[in-house]
Amino acid sequence: MSEPLERLSTDLGERSSYDAASQCCRCGYCEQACPTYAATGSESRSARGRNQLVRLLMEGRLTQPSSSQDALETCLLCGACTTACYARVPTADIVLEGRRLLGQPRKLSRFLTRLMNDHRGLFMVLLKAAYLAKRLGLSLLARPFLRIVGLPGLAVADAHVRQTPWVFLREKLARRPLAADPRWLYFAPCGPDLLFPRVGEATVSVLETLHGPGNFMSNDCCGLLAYNYGDVEDARALARRNIARFEAAGAMGPVVGDCSSCVAFLKSYPQLFLEDPAWKARAERFVAAVQDVPEILAQADLSAVKDLGPAVCHDSCRACHGQGLKEQGQEAMKKLAGSSYRRLPESDVCCGGAGAFAFRQPTLSDDIIRRKVGRIASTGAAVVAASSTSCLLQLAEGLRKYYPECRVVHLSELAAQSLAPERQGQGA
Ligand code: SF4
Ligand code: SF4
Repeated sequence: MSEPLERLSTDLGERSSYDAASQCCRCGYCEQACPTYAATGSESRSARGRNQLVRLLMEGRLTQPSSSQDALETCLLCGACTTACYARVPTADIVLEGRRLLGQPRKLSRFLTRLMNDHRGLFMVLLKAAYLAKRLGLSLLARPFLRIVGLPGLAVADAHVRQTPWVFLREKLARRPLAADPRWLYFAPCGPDLLFPRVGEATVSVLETLHGPGNFMSNDCCGLLAYNYGDVEDARALARRNIARFEAAGAMGPVVGDCSSCVAFLKSYPQLFLEDPAWKARAERFVAAVQDVPEILAQADLSAVKDLGPAVCHDSCRACHGQGLKEQGQEAMKKLAGSSYRRLPESDVCCGGAGAFAFRQPTLSDDIIRRKVGRIASTGAAVVAASSTSCLLQLAEGLRKYYPECRVVHLSELAAQSLAPERQGQGA
């Protein structure tokens, strides 16, 4: 069983996870902000219901602890409830503590985390072989087998992932000459690295134009996969490795990542070291340098991309709720779209992607994306921008099914086009 964190770093200060869960006074003020409650009307699928269940679980008062599994598994971890809550109850972290107490299935996550980070060369070869099999149509044949052996999420993931690059982002970035006096570091999240190298290339090009020379951090996974689905200790080990790389790099400027979920997790590193003051201090120095793409672009001098058509920005949950970047994405989009900018209603509501949620909870995820696509269609948008890998995947799938007139791009791709007009018209 994965060890719970037991102490959380909340907006109101450090406290035990039990105290954090007990702070939910059941007012229900957050109910309408919760996408899974809005979709189902079920109390156990609301923040209030989940907090009560985890508290009872911690007190040992649930006669059948496994009865809380559906409530905990169906949480998007989006954080909208915390934004709406006057007491800032950190429901997403409390839900994760609950999952750890239940002993969530973690074998696959643990295997992937270790393969990806401790045997990266082998992992890349195996992933390219899987991509080749997908291109040959073999993965289609494997889907029924995956369902039979209890891995239906992998079958759904295979259906959602349409782009399979031959060359990963870190292989491309390894060819760049090292800057002697780097003014920024690029942190390559797994999504841009393994699925959307064009996003990482766009981010690096934007950083070079805006800030001058910089370097790829040659980072490991941020640890979010291990934190959400596997072992906290694995997440801690990855955090230590990334912090040490940052310290060794000696850059004078920001560390920039282009998946808001991963960047939000990087910014939460101190919470992993509440019992270890030396590493907590190092994590805090690291976090002071970390920035997400929306906050870089909100401060940048950008001109409108030509012939974009009506364009909106979906605020990735881990940017707006996870990092408090409430308007930065919209500010960037206003500059990038110019007179084509439209404000997306409910722009800060989760799209239902949420890491592996879309693969593990496909029916509920589809209910949520349908509502999101309806809001996008109501603006007449031809382009929607986002800043997280799971949003790019989920929006692409939702638009393909319900509103194919619109395409999804990463904010960095639009910014790269804005700063290098010869790239106009490129993107998803
Ligand atoms: S999480 Fe906050 S807003 Fe929601 S029911 Fe609990 S105290 Fe109220
Ligand atoms: S994190 Fe999101 S899905 Fe989970 S309870 Fe809060 S608002 Fe609902």
